[in-house]
Amino acid sequence: MIPAASFAGKRVSLFGLGGSGIATARALIAGGAEVLAWDDNPESVAKAGAEGIPTGDLRAADWGLFSAFVLSPGVPLTHPKPHWTVELARGAGVEVIGDIELFCRERMRAASSAPFIAITGTNGKSTTTALTAHILNAAGRDTQMGGNIGRAVMTLDPPEPSRHYVVECSSYQIDLAPSINPTAGILLNLTPDHLDRHGTMQHYASIKERLVAGSETAIIGIDDSWCAQIADRLERAGRDVIRISKRLPLTDGYFADGTNLMEAVHGRYSRIAFLEGIGSLRGQHNAQNALAAVTACLRVGLELGEIQSGLESFPGLAHRMEQVGRKGHVLFINDSKATNADAAAPALSSFPRIYWIAGGLPKEGGIEPLRGFFPRIAKAYLIGEAAPAFSATLGEAVPYEISGTLAAAVEHAAHDAAADESGEVVVLLSPACASFDQFKNFEVRGEAFRQAANAIEGVKPIGGAR
Ligand code: ADP
Repeated sequence: MIPAASFAGKRVSLFGLGGSGIATARALIAGGAEVLAWDDNPESVAKAGAEGIPTGDLRAADWGLFSAFVLSPGVPLTHPKPHWTVELARGAGVEVIGDIELFCRERMRAASSAPFIAITGTNGKSTTTALTAHILNAAGRDTQMGGNIGRAVMTLDPPEPSRHYVVECSSYQIDLAPSINPTAGILLNLTPDHLDRHGTMQHYASIKERLVAGSETAIIGIDDSWCAQIADRLERAGRDVIRISKRLPLTDGYFADGTNLMEAVHGRYSRIAFLEGIGSLRGQHNAQNALAAVTACLRVGLELGEIQSGLESFPGLAHRMEQVGRKGHVLFINDSKATNADAAAPALSSFPRIYWIAGGLPKEGGIEPLRGFFPRIAKAYLIGEAAPAFSATLGEAVPYEISGTLAAAVEHAAHDAAADESGEVVVLLSPACASFDQFKNFEVRGEAFRQAANAIEGVKPIGGAR
């Protein structure tokens, strides 16, 4: 745990007592702050109280006494409207911050030179965070990973000069971290998302921009116009900007040429790493993630050899184009995290011949946006409530069956794929749907797929249950 000593002897109010809220309250108390915590859910308040965290209704509190108000990132700061606690804090002139801000202040206080890599973007945050931490770990660096992935940031080990922090940041967390100042800040990409919580795309992009604007080095994926403009703006302001692109040869920066990762210096190119043969980093989207991780690792002093071996040993994240088994020429891929058409596109674009399991609880727009990938689909196996709508979209374009359940879909897809004589093929679960009609969540759906695939005779498991 990182004791939040920057508030020693001060009073701090806190709202939101989920996992990260409780961890943050503990860190404040350990640092010597006097905490008053609350939540709209009485059960969460009772649980925090039972763990020794002082609780009290913040409506009745004297806000003039608080030095800061710590808000959980899950609670609205601006849209659709500020939470009542935010109104009270603002009325009393109390600063509103989150756990990433506490972390930044502790790092500056205790070990300001501790390398800090912060990652944001609409898609690929978790993969890039996990990959960066993996490469650093594999190179023997003392590495702590957390934030929006895995552990809450204040539960990490305390800052020391040689300790590396790799922290995934959601837009909500950045909004609550006014002094975020990573050694290397990564902004992967920007597409419309979470606009219910940010109002407009402009506002969403401006929050993400803050992470790179505060960075010593800003690493920016310039494949969308929002990010390209941010890179230009920061460069004009005299900031250190490194551009990355998954498709464009750049004059300066890092780009992907197929599976080769290239460095460009004044228009001269050299290969610095490659992804050929790395099953956990297939696809153009992963080239973007890998470029970002590689660039950040170079920025904190890793050698190219260390980086390449880290890339090669990356196990990948569960449920994101995860290889779970193989039988001869048939590879089983679990992409259960793909809960809408946009998220399923990277997987469909990464394999040439696919036995595709799709369906669940449908999202608006269905699979129409995926029509461009239909020629790659040898056959589709439709499950859940979306099956009738998806079958209507597939129509004559793609052979399909309505399998109903995931177990039946896996069995039938595996059987058909085994009989395919066109070389390497995949049985891919990339459902383009939420899971809630048949499963508790996408993780449970992905595990069910792994088990069903590995129950087929002759399938050799890849990786273990996580
Ligand atoms: P996040 O943490 O931002 O949600 P993840 O790394 O968990 O991102 O990846 C989630 C899904 O997003 C993946 O399954 C893939 O479909 C898609 N994805 C991953 N990286 C990228 C990227 N760089 N660009 C676009 N889509 C991506």
